[in-house]
Amino acid sequence: MGHPMFEYDAALTDEIFDYCRERLSLDPVPLDYGSLTPEPLPTLEGFITADGRDAASVLHFFKEHLALAVVSIDAPNFLAFIPNAPTKNSLLFDMVVACSGLNGTSWLESAGVVVAENQALSFLAHLAGMPDGSGGAFVSGGSSGNLSGLTVGRDVGRARHPEIAPHTLRFAISSDAHSSIGKALHVLGVETLLVEPDDHRFTLATLQSALASDPHPETVIGVVATAGTTNAGIIDDLEGLGSYARAHDLWFHVDGAYGGASLFSPTHHQYLSGIRHADSFVVDPHKWLFAPLDCAALIYRAPMVARTVLAQQASYLDILHAGEDEDYEWNPSDFAIHLSRRARGLPFWFSLVTNGTRAYETAVQSAIDLAARTEALINTEEMDHVEMVRPSSLSVVLFRRLGWTDEQYTRWSHQLLRDQIAFVTPTKWEGETVARFAFLHPDTDDELVRRVLDSMRP
Ligand SMILES: *Cc1c(COP(=O)(O)O)cnc(C)c1O
Repeated sequence: MGHPMFEYDAALTDEIFDYCRERLSLDPVPLDYGSLTPEPLPTLEGFITADGRDAASVLHFFKEHLALAVVSIDAPNFLAFIPNAPTKNSLLFDMVVACSGLNGTSWLESAGVVVAENQALSFLAHLAGMPDGSGGAFVSGGSSGNLSGLTVGRDVGRARHPEIAPHTLRFAISSDAHSSIGKALHVLGVETLLVEPDDHRFTLATLQSALASDPHPETVIGVVATAGTTNAGIIDDLEGLGSYARAHDLWFHVDGAYGGASLFSPTHHQYLSGIRHADSFVVDPHKWLFAPLDCAALIYRAPMVARTVLAQQASYLDILHAGEDEDYEWNPSDFAIHLSRRARGLPFWFSLVTNGTRAYETAVQSAIDLAARTEALINTEEMDHVEMVRPSSLSVVLFRRLGWTDEQYTRWSHQLLRDQIAFVTPTKWEGETVARFAFLHPDTDDELVRRVLDSMRP
């Protein structure tokens, strides 16, 4: 007899699979309520006991109470923050990963996983125009990808400039960069040259003028650009910044956590061609590439340099590195600040392989097209209670309800969620509270957009 926790329970397995089957078949996925549940959140007091509780009743409790207190990010009416809309195939394969006993750390342990994840990474690198040999690893999110990429950039900058005191080295970043960039540099002890962008876009001209008026431009060792800002979808001047960085031996990091997915867009691919200059590049499949959380692709132009900086050394790990170098056997753990890792790239890989790239192109494009049609609708006379704050960019639409206070936006947003119409949250733009759509799910339609806009009428 084995330990009871490891016994196969056929009845519970059926119940769990039935739950998953039901959730997968929902069309559309209901929004649910998050913290705005009609009933108060249930108490979990006394749940953890010495002898355990009946699993079926706990599953039932989860379904009936806890799950309702979560806003489903994969609902087509989730239009806040950055949604997440995993394909059915990626969700199904995530269950395979969960049940397969995989640790995607090393080639020795998981070669079969690594070849598949690396195929997906190479595909993305190629799409971004990065050279053959580019590679990296799937990490938990854009924040963690940015931290690892910038760590390598910092160490490369230090090595290039032994004559400069390490604590004075800086990265040039735009004041519109994602908060995770500032946090990462803070963790790394790297200062910033904070550049005021041109209408929120970080351009070569803004970088050059910041450098020209700085007393110590020689301490700048890298440039961080954003391929699609989270708040507004703005794509920095990747070509200008990237070719300048290359020419001046500056590390070029591109944060494409959200917008990098538009590499798949037939109409917008061209605006991302400057990513080909990147030394490190991040794009989150768990955002606009329709994979489940948590999954970000981190890709280096020179992965062996990243490995020198990030590979963990410990005597019990020596076996992983035995016989290396001439033909290095790829250990995903060597390319980020992590060791044990879930094979989180596999659901994305399975979905990409099974659905084909054309499906990704049309799905990404549909969100961009919906943003453009939404902008056109807001600009019609019929919609005289709302106006665009700025032209839509990628799949983000910023607009204002004329005459509303902050409280009115908040009340409206909460009411839309309580009524299960949509989850739309206000944001700040140049100090003003405004409304924002972030489109992503291909099933979000014009009718919903109209309904939300109509809900703002006097
Ligand atoms: C979402 C986002 C991040 C952070 O990514 P996580 O996966 O949430 O950690 C970083 N940069 C940009 C531009 C983003 O949109």
